[in-house]
Amino acid sequence: MLPIGNLHTHTCFCDGKDSPEEILREAIAQGLDTLGFSGHAYVEGDEECCMSPERTEEYRAEIGRLRALYGDRIHLLCGIERDYYSPLDRGGYDYVIGGVHYLRLDGELYPLDLRADVLRALIREHFAGDPVALARAYYERVAELPEKTECDVIAHFDLITKFNERDPVFDETDPRYLRVALDTLDALLEQDKIIEINTGAVSRGYRRTPYPVPILLRRIAEKGGRVIFGSDSHSKETLLFGRSEAIHLARAAGIGSMTCLTPSGWQSYPI
Ligand SMILES: [Zn+2]
Ligand SMILES: [Zn+2]
Repeated sequence: MLPIGNLHTHTCFCDGKDSPEEILREAIAQGLDTLGFSGHAYVEGDEECCMSPERTEEYRAEIGRLRALYGDRIHLLCGIERDYYSPLDRGGYDYVIGGVHYLRLDGELYPLDLRADVLRALIREHFAGDPVALARAYYERVAELPEKTECDVIAHFDLITKFNERDPVFDETDPRYLRVALDTLDALLEQDKIIEINTGAVSRGYRRTPYPVPILLRRIAEKGGRVIFGSDSHSKETLLFGRSEAIHLARAAGIGSMTCLTPSGWQSYPI
């Protein structure tokens, strides 16, 4: 049996719905082996989605309290999802997920995953209408995530494709786009970073397939890269959302194993 877990979990400490304890109880009820919380680390300019430094302390204390109470029933981990623009705090987390959610241009913070029209306006106003120029700016930052965030896992690698299925913002088959995405992926795989197969946009109805798209999954398979499945859950109902379909897709792309964070460290399991 494959271990069942989720390391990409948001709570009411950031932009999620439920408390850590509510989610934890649900995870135990569903028989998860491992649950990791990954609150959004502080980003100056987005007080709505992210945890302030004070709130981050409360978050860590709450997970510590829960670990003392429930730690014998589930492998409970305190992680963090750091953005490219999050300051590095020396929090001593069990793991770090790194992701690019914004571009900061001329001192202004622009979200990439808010709405299709916001992304289109960004391309029009800051990248002379060329989506590949935006993609370059995005993937340049993704490539720097290991250094900027000290992450173990790369979250939602191709987040800028979020709206393309329902309300296309750009053409993902443009060879200029693919070149940038594949080169960035290769660089991360060379550093042996774990690439997350993320079903968050599927559970929220934006997409039918997880990040990254199948062509990128095939590249991970070719390079023998490591993957982890993450629901990017913002409520206790979606803890394992789309997991079996995502495993199926990964297998179809030729990926033969998945990574889990066990009490003895990162381990691979055949899928
Ligand atoms: Zn994220
Ligand atoms: Zn997240």
